[in-house]
Amino acid sequence: MDTNCEEKLSFQAEVSRLLDIVANSLYSNKEIFLRELISNASDACDRLRYAALTEPELLAGDPDFKIHLSSDAKARTLTIADNGIGMNRDELIENLGTIARSGTAAFMNQMKDQEKDKSDGKTGGANLIGQFGVGFYSSFMVADKVEVTSRKAGEDHAWTWTSDGKGDFTVAAVSPDALDLARGTRIVLSLKKDAAEYQDTARLRTIVKTYSDHVAIPVVMTVDDKEDMLNSASAIWRRAKSEVSEEQYKEFYHHVAHAFDDPWLRLHFKVEGVIEYSGLLYVPASQPFDLFAPERRHGVKLYVKRIFITDDCAELVPPYLRFLRGVIDTEDLALNISREMLQEHPVLTKIRGAVTKRVLKELKKKAEKKPEEYAKFWENFGAVLKEGLYEDAGQREILTELARFASTKSEGLTGLSGYVERMAEGQSDIYYISGNDADAVRRSPHLEGFEAKGIEVLLLSDPVDEFWIPAIGTFQDKPFKSVTRGDVDLSGFATKDSDEKAKPEPEDAAPGTDALVAFLKLALKDAVKDVRRSERLTGSPVCLIADEGDMDMHLERLLKQHRQIDTASKRVLEINPKHSLIRSLSRRLEDKDAAGGGANAALDDAAWLLLDQARILEGETVPDPAAFARRLTAIVERGFGT
Ligand code: ADP
Repeated sequence: MDTNCEEKLSFQAEVSRLLDIVANSLYSNKEIFLRELISNASDACDRLRYAALTEPELLAGDPDFKIHLSSDAKARTLTIADNGIGMNRDELIENLGTIARSGTAAFMNQMKDQEKDKSDGKTGGANLIGQFGVGFYSSFMVADKVEVTSRKAGEDHAWTWTSDGKGDFTVAAVSPDALDLARGTRIVLSLKKDAAEYQDTARLRTIVKTYSDHVAIPVVMTVDDKEDMLNSASAIWRRAKSEVSEEQYKEFYHHVAHAFDDPWLRLHFKVEGVIEYSGLLYVPASQPFDLFAPERRHGVKLYVKRIFITDDCAELVPPYLRFLRGVIDTEDLALNISREMLQEHPVLTKIRGAVTKRVLKELKKKAEKKPEEYAKFWENFGAVLKEGLYEDAGQREILTELARFASTKSEGLTGLSGYVERMAEGQSDIYYISGNDADAVRRSPHLEGFEAKGIEVLLLSDPVDEFWIPAIGTFQDKPFKSVTRGDVDLSGFATKDSDEKAKPEPEDAAPGTDALVAFLKLALKDAVKDVRRSERLTGSPVCLIADEGDMDMHLERLLKQHRQIDTASKRVLEINPKHSLIRSLSRRLEDKDAAGGGANAALDDAAWLLLDQARILEGETVPDPAAFARRLTAIVERGFGT
């Protein structure tokens, strides 16, 4: 093999920036580089073991997977070698020259956000390295040169990738003998002066025990010509709970979830029965960055008889539990099962059903016993869990018990049964309002009448709310009713405040209001579906509502945003007959003949301004901003008598 064909290539710009942060980071926990490299090596072994199920020749006489550590004090190097799947030239360039790893991309995004607030990017980066881990690139925290020699299983050529982590790297073909392995990857770190501790066998042993004990592949070191195993190398999920320490559980979570927080919940179980499987699942304490990506992928790996099969088996966990991380391992599938066979496989369907029930039950326990902790979970993953309300009719009951909402009455979150218990006498509907933004929803004029009568309204601000409500329709036989759609009749409810009740009603403007309604209908003609007196307003003059049979306004906006529909239904404009502005407009209308033509124009402007105001309150854009501005100016001018 020609060894002179060394190629020099540049890192992707983001990688260069990342390396700069990593190399200069003051992060004190540098030892995590070893965890990252061992994790990569173990993934490489898992991948080859799986590939060898269908192509056993890939193992070519070296069937025992191993990760080998060795150090050379004279040369000040540390070597990590694995006989996993290896990388060819293109893979070396692609994997080690660009940011492929999702966690690293998230790290960089966080960096960007932090730099907006802070000029001291280095310190910020250091903290984040601990939180995210930056995979292979973390080697540059301890090494000033890294050499990766790799030979892909089943291929003849070996390649060496070398870099000092400063902008570029080289790739060269090397003789296959350069690698003292049948296949796989050897990484030689030339340790920085201040990182000499990582040649020390005792130190390495401690680090491996701390961070990589759960790794299912043996991690060995040659001491006195003898191979010494540093980790337990047993699948942690197969061990009895009593044999796993809190630290080990946590480290495994970091490994399997590529996350670096502490998990919020852990489920470790073994099921023996018709179908046999065990699982170790976690709910993270924070949102994974791709939680709302359209693929809705979960983070649970499928193992069969301790062998990794895939981390992309959609059938294993329903999309509304996609925040789960961990492993499910079953005895009841064939090792060489193909992807196609996994779809709709009855064993998987059964496991999914049982695991779903188990997770929901555990969440319910938390919700009942630790409501404050549960509220944190809900904040992170409630919007995802609610997808289950319309996707999984079988679990609807428990999901409605798990759902939490902001409401006009409770400080924190409330459940639906809490709402029903607090319902006013004679109240038969569960009232809700939905919108994009929790604060805007809370301030909506539609709530005024309900507030005055002390009737609780659920405040919904997740897009998914528009979908599950029509799907489930009722809770404990009480229908859900949007306060922004159709008529509401609040006349049967007493006003909350007895003082207020005692107050004389403002002068009734009924006769004038009818005329004003008629006038507005005429003036706004095609722009609205109807104009009506409002039951729901107390403090605001106007609001828009959707007519009973029409789509809820928020849903319609959502669908338009996602280009699902391109028409908009016309709205009903509701006016508040008790509002002083509405009353003075009514009077003005009665007097207009006396006042002459100018009053007509003013009333016409007022009509359109009322409508535009209601649109703005709905978060909609004013269709004709120029006309809006002209009318506003005219009215203000008249007001000032200019
Ligand atoms: P991650 O492991 O999260 O994907 P890294 O930056 O650590 O991110 O590694 C990037 C990629 O390089 C890996 O996804 C893998 O494809 C490849 N890789 C790294 N180390 C090895 C190894 N020892 N053997 C084979 N492939 C490896």
